[in-house]
Amino acid sequence: MAFHGSARPAVCGNLFPASDLGHKYFCVSGSGSTAACSVLNGSQNPAGPSHPVETPRHPSTIGGSTGGGAAVPQPHSSPASEVPCPAEMEPDRPIGYGAFGVVWSVTDPRDGRKVALKKMPNVFQNLVSCKRVFRELRMLCFFKHDNVLSALDILQPPQIDCFEEIYVITELMQSDLHKVIVSPQPLTTDHIKVFLYQILRGLKYLHSAGILHRDIKPGNLLVNSNCLLKICDFGLARVEEPDSSRHMTQEVVTQYYRAPEVLMGSRHYGSAIDIWSVGCIFAELLGRRILFQAQSPIQQLDLITDLLGTPPLSAMASACEGARAHILRGPHKPPSLSVLYMLSDGATHEAVHLLCRMLVFDPAKRISGSDALSHPYLDEGRLRYHTCMCKCCYSVPSGRVYTRDFEPAAERPFSHSYEESMLSVWQGKELIHRFITEHQQGKRVPLCINPQSAAFKSFIRSTAWHSSKVSRKEER
Ligand SMILES: [Zn+2]
Repeated sequence: MAFHGSARPAVCGNLFPASDLGHKYFCVSGSGSTAACSVLNGSQNPAGPSHPVETPRHPSTIGGSTGGGAAVPQPHSSPASEVPCPAEMEPDRPIGYGAFGVVWSVTDPRDGRKVALKKMPNVFQNLVSCKRVFRELRMLCFFKHDNVLSALDILQPPQIDCFEEIYVITELMQSDLHKVIVSPQPLTTDHIKVFLYQILRGLKYLHSAGILHRDIKPGNLLVNSNCLLKICDFGLARVEEPDSSRHMTQEVVTQYYRAPEVLMGSRHYGSAIDIWSVGCIFAELLGRRILFQAQSPIQQLDLITDLLGTPPLSAMASACEGARAHILRGPHKPPSLSVLYMLSDGATHEAVHLLCRMLVFDPAKRISGSDALSHPYLDEGRLRYHTCMCKCCYSVPSGRVYTRDFEPAAERPFSHSYEESMLSVWQGKELIHRFITEHQQGKRVPLCINPQSAAFKSFIRSTAWHSSKVSRKEER
């Protein structure tokens, strides 16, 4: 693939004018859309004039704030002890709900930067939730990739006896692909190419680390106004299971994006389930409507076979008996893939060719993330991304200096051996507490939440409401 350093694609401009989407999602009270926009464009000090971030506040005034704006920093040392006093952080407003947590927008009092705060609820309810949260936390701290959301910080936990919740700080993104797709914002072929390129670039990294995301959907693909995309929400992610005799849960992936092997009750599956979801999202970007929008898992399977045709027996090898019988009982369906050309004008031969390599019934024959990245449809997306969006290449007066590896794999696989050693909730609590404490060592002044503030109380109310809805959704 050739790169031409002088190319300056138009897609790198703002996808969302501040008046369209930006202020709706993150403006704090008292600051206008301009301030929100400057945050999104990388300004490091968007706290606004009413909350000077340099002003220290004595601990005795804790709880005086009514919230809604930037928190102010605590003095870095307390006269009563030598231990540094953590800087306080106040929740600002909710911005999204993941599979297992609620995300709020907050201002980091150490630098005034707007970041996202995620509360991981019901951590110590039972051993399964303990393992799941520890896995997600370790993943967030493990990730080092521009298209995968990672932890910037973890709030300082209280003493272990009072340790009930975990709060993680991540980068704050402006919107997500679901909101973009349902918005009136025009989506050009250039946008679609650069989004798809980044989804696959992030997935290649995750899969190379041995991680299955298991809930790839437009709402879990965060985007910024400059079209930068990051995969988020690892609440359902797990390490790939090499032993095909071991059972994996089928309670994964939002139904519209669920791969046929999961719908057909396969007890074992791999990274191909994420690629299926990407295929559904690719079609949704082109057509701006959900590709397979069914009311039930059985209807979901029917819609898939309407498009792909009745699968051969070999493609249903791992299916459960009932699902196989359902397919064989029905009429024989021919494939109708040509309807994909009608998704939009952007559904060119190249686009449909790649789409048909992702939407393959048999997971063994579905394209991998790494092979999909070699498809010519993504050449332009790669060029645009590395010409003006990435952090891996840079410009010099004579042109652009490109990285040697456009789509890097993980340096090492993600290890989950610690899960075996977690035998009780209390032991899990100790492990997680130690992990967070060690993670923070040698880093900046630790952060904590101001539990007395009105903002924190409404934050807790919203998270309690949400966690009661999601607490049933445990996984193996
Ligand atoms: Zn680059």
